[in-house]
Amino acid sequence: MKAIGVTREGEGVERLDVERPVPTEGEALVRTLRVGVDGTDHEVVAGSHGGYPEDSDHMILGHEAVGVVEDGNGSGLEAGQVVVPTVRRKPNGETNEYFRRGEPDMAPDGEYVERGIVGDHGFMAEYFTSPADTLVPIPEALAEYGMLVEPISIAEKANDHAFSTREPFEWRPESACVLGNGTLGLLTLWMLGRDFDRTYCVGRRDRPDPTIDIIDELGATYVDSRETSVEALPDAHEAVDYVFEATGYAPHAVQTVHALAPNGVGALLGIPGPWEFEIDGGTLHKEIVLHNKCLIGTVNSHVKHFEAAVDTLAEMPDWLLDDLVTTVVGPENLEAAFEDDDDQIKGVVEFDTL
Ligand code: NDP
Ligand code: ZN
Repeated sequence: MKAIGVTREGEGVERLDVERPVPTEGEALVRTLRVGVDGTDHEVVAGSHGGYPEDSDHMILGHEAVGVVEDGNGSGLEAGQVVVPTVRRKPNGETNEYFRRGEPDMAPDGEYVERGIVGDHGFMAEYFTSPADTLVPIPEALAEYGMLVEPISIAEKANDHAFSTREPFEWRPESACVLGNGTLGLLTLWMLGRDFDRTYCVGRRDRPDPTIDIIDELGATYVDSRETSVEALPDAHEAVDYVFEATGYAPHAVQTVHALAPNGVGALLGIPGPWEFEIDGGTLHKEIVLHNKCLIGTVNSHVKHFEAAVDTLAEMPDWLLDDLVTTVVGPENLEAAFEDDDDQIKGVVEFDTL
């Protein structure tokens, strides 16, 4: 069958010809419909993130997928059900406390593999197999944009964890700022627009730009970080109750604390490489303490967040989904889906349709 991946000897993303997988007990066989490409895939292709499955000279890419059950294989799923797979799996098939609790997203390094990212094949192939309890059913009507459930689930978890930290007191947030105008940032901006009176989104691009058009359309205020640094937000606009960092730009982790209003919370999601820079640690420490501020890190998501993401996707307006998904191509034209210029927001490889 056709697949898309990387090889130990090769360079860049490649078309592969691999055996169709056979489901083992408890697994279903899924016919792949669509698979999204994101920043993580680019990092895996560049070799700066992730790693090959043991004993394999290649890795099939792709962790943002939607497919349709081809063979339920007695797993409890029926053929024809549209499903979205979660990403983390048990390392070497051996379970541990995190998987037993249904919280693989909380497992530390080494206690999981991630399909299409580290240690396990992804979903960018005509078919894949997966345990039934890692396949989240979605309505057929959402199949077209089902590959967005995974990135939305990342934001569901981050928001859930961040807001939970404010539960012990009466928190009445009004303003939120998303750092980053990539897919994760824009999806989150829409989500926050439901609950916050005022939203901001920080980027570093000139107009005209398709991501800034979306920010405008959402009624959010675009902030150019080249003119207004994140720590200057309180002076230029307002100190915000919530910051959602989705840039991977390491200084933002520190600047977030200064952008927050008293009692605010910041969620960090970016994954930068090593980066040394000077900070005033004393002021940072004092600011967090004296204003009851909170900074959390969050990665990945589990089934509960995928289920919440399905509901969120169902609410998203068509214009937003159309504008976010900038490229849909078959595997023969995969280069277009992996194009990474300013016109591309979300590239998608389509293997089949319902
Ligand atoms: P993208 O690369 O699509 O988006 C990142 C965005 O941040 C880009 O639009 C980029 O702008 C912008 N940006 C970078 N630096 C700055 C800056 N200094 N000022 C303003 N804007 C800036 O990635 P995603 O949206 O897919 O993901 C966002 C981040 O979250 C990435 O770091 C990714 O690795 C991480 N991530 C984390 C997950 C988790 O579980 N924690 C899951 C998925 C992603 P431009 O394009 O103009 O350069
Ligand atoms: Zn992703």
